[in-house]
Amino acid sequence: MKYCTECSSEYQDSVTRCADCGGTELVGAAEMKKRGLLLANEVDTRKFVRATTTDDPLSSDAMVAVLEGAEIPVFARPRRDDSTAMPWWEILVPEDQLAKATPLLKDERDKMAANADEAAKAAEEEEKETEGTGS
Ligand SMILES: [Zn+2]
Repeated sequence: MKYCTECSSEYQDSVTRCADCGGTELVGAAEMKKRGLLLANEVDTRKFVRATTTDDPLSSDAMVAVLEGAEIPVFARPRRDDSTAMPWWEILVPEDQLAKATPLLKDERDKMAANADEAAKAAEEEEKETEGTGS
């Protein structure tokens, strides 16, 4: 089986051109997976929209976990900035779940920011203590 990289339609191995969208790149299931593309039978017919983006995989995992916990279908797609080659992650949810997902993601983001603040404060405290022992 081969799949169209443009629209995920499924084809016999002998087919070289997608009849649905005219795409000429048909690849095997393993290659589709490698590129983070969904196969035709995995494609959710709902329209997925971007709920948020992150710039590291850990935040991306955390966001996905929060949404999965709320039983919102979600997938994260690694992207790369064309100009800087910096990776970032796009978190997608079905359009009809976006209103539910947005406040959850905001909470998670606040929590992450608070943790970062705490870590910074702890590091600062430690620095003060170290300075103190010197005098
Ligand atoms: Zn196609």
